[in-house]
Amino acid sequence: MKSAGICEMCGHHVGVRQKAHIMAEGKKTENNVLMLCPTCHIMFDRHVKPKVFKAMMEAGFTGLP
Ligand SMILES: [Zn+2]
Repeated sequence: MKSAGICEMCGHHVGVRQKAHIMAEGKKTENNVLMLCPTCHIMFDRHVKPKVFKAMMEAGFTGLP
């Protein structure tokens, strides 16, 4: 899925944005999707997401992947 626009992480206007799912292959709702440039998409998946999930688990959230 490709669409031009503002990356929701770095704020740059890019020609290609990818849908990054916050909850792995979770629900395909608007709330579960970030529109990111390819660079931020990789950053998010590899670095941001694991940390966010760890922090959430430490805070006592359940039902996370
Ligand atoms: Zn970006």
